[in-house]
Amino acid sequence: MAQQIPLVDYLELGEDPHLVANECTTCGARFFDRRNACAACEGSDFTKVRVATTGEVRAFTIVAFAAPGIPVPFVAAVVDCEGTSVRANLINVTPDPEHLSLGMKVRLATEVIGTDDNGTEAVGFGFEPLGG
Ligand SMILES: [Zn+2]
Repeated sequence: MAQQIPLVDYLELGEDPHLVANECTTCGARFFDRRNACAACEGSDFTKVRVATTGEVRAFTIVAFAAPGIPVPFVAAVVDCEGTSVRANLINVTPDPEHLSLGMKVRLATEVIGTDDNGTEAVGFGFEPLGG
């Protein structure tokens, strides 16, 4: 199997891919980017937490125009993973309103975005319909 590296540092690969958030130890707010202080309470202590790999679509946009090289249309969405909001694309779904709905159940899925000259695969993530 090719070596894989995650496209973003909050994606954990392996047998059981999942996202890791920084959770404020004071108020419980979760962030995916590195922070010095919590945006909600200004606390400065964070702990790494595993984010649920299933969720519900809270909002989505079908993106029809993008930079050259990016296949369109694709679906940009906000997914609620048991209380943690995750911005991600919906993948393995037909990008039209008939196949998309608010509240649809989705699960985390990884996809190989590219391969470098050494055969190392860059892996990104999206969410795909549950059972789809
Ligand atoms: Zn906080």
